[in-house]
Amino acid sequence: MNTHAPAQHTDVLIVGAGPTGLALAIDLARRGVDALVVERAGALFPGSRGKGLQPRTLEVLDDLGVHDAIRAAGASYPVGVIWQDGVRTGEHRMFDAAEPTEGAPYAEPWMVPQWRTQEILAARLAELGGEITFGRELAGIEQDPEGVTAAFVSGPPVRARYAVAADGGRSTVRRALGIGMTGETVDPSPMLVADVRIEGLDRDHMHVFPPAEGGGYLAIWPLASTDEFQVVAGFPEGTEPDLSLDGIRKVVGARSHLAPGDVTEVRWASDFRPRAAMADRFRDGRVFLAGDSAHVHSPAGGQGLNTSVQDAYNLGWKLAAVLSGEARASLLDSYEEERMPVAAAMLGLSTRIHRGEARRGEATRQLGIGYRTSTLAVETRHGLAEEALRAGDRAPDGVRGGLRLFDELRGTHWTLLTVGAGAGAGAEVPGPPDPSALPGLADVRTVRIPSYEAYGDGVFLIRPDGYVGWAGTTAEGLASYAATISG
Ligand SMILES: Cc1cc2nc3c(=O)[nH]c(=O)nc-3n(C[C@H](O)[C@H](O)[C@H](O)COP(=O)(O)OP(=O)(O)OC[C@H]3O[C@@H](n4cnc5c(N)ncnc54)[C@H](O)[C@@H]3O)c2cc1C
Repeated sequence: MNTHAPAQHTDVLIVGAGPTGLALAIDLARRGVDALVVERAGALFPGSRGKGLQPRTLEVLDDLGVHDAIRAAGASYPVGVIWQDGVRTGEHRMFDAAEPTEGAPYAEPWMVPQWRTQEILAARLAELGGEITFGRELAGIEQDPEGVTAAFVSGPPVRARYAVAADGGRSTVRRALGIGMTGETVDPSPMLVADVRIEGLDRDHMHVFPPAEGGGYLAIWPLASTDEFQVVAGFPEGTEPDLSLDGIRKVVGARSHLAPGDVTEVRWASDFRPRAAMADRFRDGRVFLAGDSAHVHSPAGGQGLNTSVQDAYNLGWKLAAVLSGEARASLLDSYEEERMPVAAAMLGLSTRIHRGEARRGEATRQLGIGYRTSTLAVETRHGLAEEALRAGDRAPDGVRGGLRLFDELRGTHWTLLTVGAGAGAGAEVPGPPDPSALPGLADVRTVRIPSYEAYGDGVFLIRPDGYVGWAGTTAEGLASYAATISG
């Protein structure tokens, strides 16, 4: 450990260039924050594992400027065919069907191999002038009232005002801070996941091979925009899956009608035992835990990468606002307050899906996630209908008065949205929905649209991450909300 060389300085040290670190780095770069991403490996992660992007994540990626690239790189989830002795015996649909709506234009999960998502995120980061330093393994971290000092296996230390642990389930940062993970083993049986080339299977379907007596589960997915398949196989408790080409050939040969030699190449392979565990804290002073460093769970339900990217998206604007002096440091307390309940609910959902007790449907799409109980959510209206949009909820899309809301929300600003009475030309404006009414918030865009049932008439202050922060019939009280956030 080299602790004597002069330290490198940055505002935010991001440890790990997985989906969490990359998404956070993009969000900070587009806000002009000086951040440094350090990655232990020599290159980006090469495997397909987190391949299911949920609708809410697609919205986030739209805001981060990569939605078109993600669309071009992926495909819808294919229908599964169930095989028995070389004969197709049925179909399996992974997800409950969902149609796009005006408020939620992305209805279904989109399949992109994780390595490709990471490449797209890294390219966007480079476009914004951000960089990843590969081959930099964090070995320890200390903090004092002014900042953090990170030490590395080699190379100079880094001094930063804040650090974010985006270093995955075995997080070095979390361990260095002594933050425990509390949870349970979901399934003691190991699972193998591998990216392979296989002959003899069509690419229009996912292929399911139900376990024979005493055997294990096998599913083979065509990986969108590649000529590869992802093999997922379960093994009996106490065994170690063989990750070699030979080992995977044996599994495929034994559990399907394919010959072992039909597997022609293994490009990446890994194994894991599903656990559901959550860090006891998501924050320790100037250090935040995000993504898998804060929560690990079964991959059933495809929630991990999605929740991780959304952790980053929750944290990015808050760090930027505090670093620029726009917001009080206490804004950062809302990260753990908002994301811990989301992670806890997601852990439970993933475990239930793994055990076959819940389906992949509305909850796994993550559009219903919100922060109604957060201290940042202030609802001033009374007597709202059960289904009404409230402070804390995700701000829906929609086109009214020639404006598309997601176009108006896209970017780093807050949005002051007036809906209905007062929004039309020459009509009465309810209160003063004017950025000057919002002391301290540096970047507020004012938008007015005619009545729209997804919102109801009123005034809505939408946070930079697309959730309603404050809602009222008029703008009365909005200024004092802004004052509680601004520095
Ligand atoms: C089989 C499988 C299928 C999955 N399917 C899905 C799915 O369909 N949808 C979904 O949402 N999720 C899925 N996931 C989960 C998803 O892969 C993870 O949740 C996601 O990768 C978490 O991202 P992360 O950036 O937090 O962590 P990681 O992706 O683990 O990235 C952490 C990074 O930190 C680096 N690092 C670690 N230690 C250090 C250190 N000391 N110094 C510097 N760098 C360090 C690592 O090299 C790595 O690059 C799946 C997972 C598995 C195993």
